[in-house]
Amino acid sequence: MGISEDYDEILHCSRCGFCQTACPIFRSTGHESGVARGRLALLRALIEGRLEWTKEIEEPLFDCLLCGACTSNCFTAIPTSNLIVNARAEYLEKVGRKPIHRLLFDQLLPYPRRLHLTARAVALGKNTKISDVARALGLLKIFGRDFPRADEIVERLPARAFRDETKPGSRRGEGNSLRIGFFIGCGMDIIQQNAANATLGLLQKIGKTVTVLDNCCCGLPAFTYGDLNVAQKLADKNMRILGDGKFDVIVTDCSSCASFLKKYPDLFPENDSRHKKAKAISAGVKDLLELVELVSVKTPPAVPKAGLSATYHDPCHAVRGQGLSKEPREILKNIPGLEYRELPEADWCCGGAGSYALSHYDLSRQVLDRKMENVKKTGADLLVTSCPACIIHLSYGVRKHGLKTRVCHISEVIAGRTANYCSSFSGACASGAGPFTAT
Ligand code: SF4
Ligand code: SF4
Repeated sequence: MGISEDYDEILHCSRCGFCQTACPIFRSTGHESGVARGRLALLRALIEGRLEWTKEIEEPLFDCLLCGACTSNCFTAIPTSNLIVNARAEYLEKVGRKPIHRLLFDQLLPYPRRLHLTARAVALGKNTKISDVARALGLLKIFGRDFPRADEIVERLPARAFRDETKPGSRRGEGNSLRIGFFIGCGMDIIQQNAANATLGLLQKIGKTVTVLDNCCCGLPAFTYGDLNVAQKLADKNMRILGDGKFDVIVTDCSSCASFLKKYPDLFPENDSRHKKAKAISAGVKDLLELVELVSVKTPPAVPKAGLSATYHDPCHAVRGQGLSKEPREILKNIPGLEYRELPEADWCCGGAGSYALSHYDLSRQVLDRKMENVKKTGADLLVTSCPACIIHLSYGVRKHGLKTRVCHISEVIAGRTANYCSSFSGACASGAGPFTAT
C-alpha cells in the first residue's frame, strides 16, 4: 500500500490554514512546510510525480510530531499524522531504513530481556560518564543526528528495569472479582520503575488479581517511524499474551501504549483473522486514567502538605489519541488537600514525541520552552502527566528552566508517593523532602 491510496483524503484540504494556529512546529518555525497544509501539499506532489522520493524529503516527512493537533483544528478533520505515517512507510520502502532502526526494531524491541540488558549497558555508560568520551569521539551520532546534544535530556538511567525487580506473573489483589493484566510499556519498564511500582500497588487495591505481563514493546515507535511490518509483528506477539482470555481488563499506565493497543485492529486488514482478535483485545484495554475506581481508591496514609498544588499536562496519546482529558483532572481534583491548577495550552505537545529530540533537538526544545513558560504561569508544585516520554522531556524542561516544579506520573500522585516515587530524572524531584507527609 502506498500513499496514492490516500489521494482523495489529501484532496479534502481546502488550504484554509486553520491548522496553523494549532501546530507546535509551525508556531515555532513559521514555515509552511511544517504545518498540515504544507505537509499535505508535499504528499500530493509526491503522488502526482512532481516530486521525487529522495533523501531531500526526509526532513519534512520526519519533523512532524504526529501530535494530531492539526486534525482537531481542521473542519474536515484530515488525519494528517496518519497520512504522514503512511508516507514514512513508503519512504522507507523507496529510500531505505537506517541501520540503527533495524537494530532497534528487529533485534531489541521484540525482546524485553535484550532491551533490559541494553538499557543496563547504556545506564552504565551514562552513569560512569563513558558516554562523554563517546560523545567526544563523535560516536553517539549513530543513534540520531542530534543525539550528542539530546543525550542530556535523560539525566541518569536506572541500572535495573522494573521487570528485573518485579518478575512477570500474577499477584493477589484486594478487589473482589476483577482480573487485571498489567501491560508494561518500555519507558515505564526501563526508566520509570518507581511510577510502575506505584501503579502496581494501585491496581492491587482494585483487582482480585494483577498480572505483570511479559509483553514486548507495543509497537508504537516502529509505527511512528513508518515501519508498519515491525509494528504488526510486535502487535502479533503481544496479542498472544493479551488475548488468552485470562484477563477482564488490560491496563497500562503509559498513555502512548494504551492509545496504540487500542489501535491494534487498524494494523491488520479486515480479511485477516488477526483483525477480529485485535478488535476483541483492544476493547478490553484501558489507560490507567480511565479507571474511575482510582478516584475513590484508598491511598496510603499520606496527605499533601498544606498548600500543595498540581497541574496536568495532557499527553497527545491521551487527549487526542484516546479522548481522555476530563478523567485525569477528576482524579487530581479528588485528592483531598491537593489544589488543582489548570495549565494553559495543557494539550499542546511537549516536544518529547517519543525519540523526536534525537533527530530534531532544536525544534523539540522550542516546543518544550513554550510548555515551560506555561508551567511557570501556574506556579504549581507538581506537574503531573501519564506518559514516560513526556515525563522525561518535561523533567528536562524543568531542569533547563531552573523550576522547582516536580514532574510526576499520575500514579505516584494518587498513591501519595511523590516523595519517594517522583521521577528521578528531574533535578527537582531527586532532592529534598517530598511534598506528601505521612500522618
Ligand atoms: S485546517 Fe485542514 S483543510 Fe485547512 S489547511 Fe489545514 S489541513 Fe487543510
Ligand atoms: S501532527 Fe502536530 S506537528 Fe504534525 S502537522 Fe499536525 S499539528 Fe503539526
